[in-house]
Amino acid sequence: MEFFRLLSRGAKLDNADAFGRKKTEDKKSDAERIVRELDFFHTKTASEKKSSEDGEITKRERKPQAKIESTIPHRKSNIRGSDIPQPLASFEELATRFEVSQQLLGRVRFNTPTQIQAEVIPGIMHDRDILACAPTGSGKTLAYVLPLVQLVQKINEEKKTGNVKALILVPTKELATQVLEQFTLLTAGGRAGVKANILTKSLLARLTSSANGAAEKTKPGDVLVATPLRLVRALDAIELEGLRHLVLDEADRLFDTTFAEQTDQILGAIRKQQQDSLQKTFLSATIPSSVETLALGLMVDPLRVLISPGRAAATVDQRLVFAGTEAGKLLAVRQMVQAGELPPPALIFVQSVERANALMHELVYDGVNVDVIHGERTESQRRAVVERFKKAEVWVLICTDVFARGIDVHGVNVVINYDVPQSAQAYIHRIGRTGRAGRTGKAFTLFTKDDIEAVKIVVNVMRESGCKVEDWMMRMGKADKQMKKQLKRKPSEREEIGTQVKKLKAVEDKKRKEKKAKREEERLKKTEKKKKKKQKDAENEQKDADEEEL
Ligand code: ADP
Ligand code: MG
Repeated sequence: MEFFRLLSRGAKLDNADAFGRKKTEDKKSDAERIVRELDFFHTKTASEKKSSEDGEITKRERKPQAKIESTIPHRKSNIRGSDIPQPLASFEELATRFEVSQQLLGRVRFNTPTQIQAEVIPGIMHDRDILACAPTGSGKTLAYVLPLVQLVQKINEEKKTGNVKALILVPTKELATQVLEQFTLLTAGGRAGVKANILTKSLLARLTSSANGAAEKTKPGDVLVATPLRLVRALDAIELEGLRHLVLDEADRLFDTTFAEQTDQILGAIRKQQQDSLQKTFLSATIPSSVETLALGLMVDPLRVLISPGRAAATVDQRLVFAGTEAGKLLAVRQMVQAGELPPPALIFVQSVERANALMHELVYDGVNVDVIHGERTESQRRAVVERFKKAEVWVLICTDVFARGIDVHGVNVVINYDVPQSAQAYIHRIGRTGRAGRTGKAFTLFTKDDIEAVKIVVNVMRESGCKVEDWMMRMGKADKQMKKQLKRKPSEREEIGTQVKKLKAVEDKKRKEKKAKREEERLKKTEKKKKKKQKDAENEQKDADEEEL
């Protein structure tokens, strides 16, 4: 396991004492230590709930990794761990259970916690390490932002140090902005006694010069939201003593080859400076088993929350479209635009920067209100595009996988996979940009005969997610393990977007030119004929006149 070796260089994966964290004292009341009630949707009435609690309160033994499976047959979710806290039935309950202020609760704009929030919020409030897997758009952000605001507020009331208390690591800048927005909302822009910041370029520069003895001292804020690369550069300039909470949002992405080295460095640095106990929350909509092993190895007495693992959001209507050839894909998108089947806002995913740019040019040519976002655009360009997309000034956004993770744009109606994604994770995250927060959405995956192996992976997710899978899809069988690895490593080679169409256009242009030339030739011939006739008529007339004179 590549990551395991990488990570173990910096952060020793010692299950018993990761991050020097000792098992926390069990401060829970007996009422909290009851057999887990598996009413995830909170469908039981209050009296039903009460009777089940009264009748069956059993003090649970504190057994690490005790496995308690969901008993609801159609559900795939389960929770594992010792002393599993009661799920949250309502946000108001936080006031009585954890002394959360009405002011803070008043800033939560929702009525009922989602399933993942019901599990994760009490977990963090009980200072538990948590590994959480829940579908895209199920409200994972608030699940950690809300308890962290309360807990950091408490720390500040006791002792204000100016050091970071909660660190949130996310894979992209866009996601960092989005997470900060939630903190800003719940902290009333810092007025609630908790200051949250993004580790921007300018904050990094100020922190570095402050650490190098500049007169003006800069503090990072109570909550710091950061991307791995920038955080690595800031490690020498940030005081990590006093850090109490660590969140890895999109955790599997942060452990994959793109970020593993940086994540390793960050975890190593935290471990070096971190003497107090550190509460950790790792979340994603996809957690492969290798990442799960790795993550659990970094945790103490973890709670493992799994809600529909390996599935796409149930609110997304997933379709596969056979387009024949690469040119057929462009044609299919054009037809969808013309038929109004791409109601804005819509996202189109492609496999590379070049293809994103090429597709944009094709669609701009068709008069579609389109823009493009990918890793080669500058930070300010990316920010501007996202803003314009959110304001519906851009209707169709073409993107690479940088935009597949975490981004929450209100009401994306359709996602098109112009190029078939290379892994189940990429597919789940891409199509998860639609069908968020209970809304419905559509996802179309276009494919050609060269995509069969990648399509098998998609079909498998569709099947797992309970989608209608046609007979021909069932007959495809499962993707070969070796092929899966190969696909993950390297994107498929494809004919350039627009080449076929360009060829067709060239042929048509040639025909059109030939026709035009022929028409011109005929016109000239006709004029010539007319001219000759006129001339002859004139000559005849002259002849007649001469004869008359004679
Ligand atoms: P995830 O991280 O699971 O993909 P997000 O945290 O981005 O999902 O949340 C998706 C959307 O759901 C956001 O627009 C958010 O405002 C909304 N949301 C969060 N919590 C709730 C809730 N309890 N009820 C309804 N909508 C919610
Ligand atoms: Mg998220």
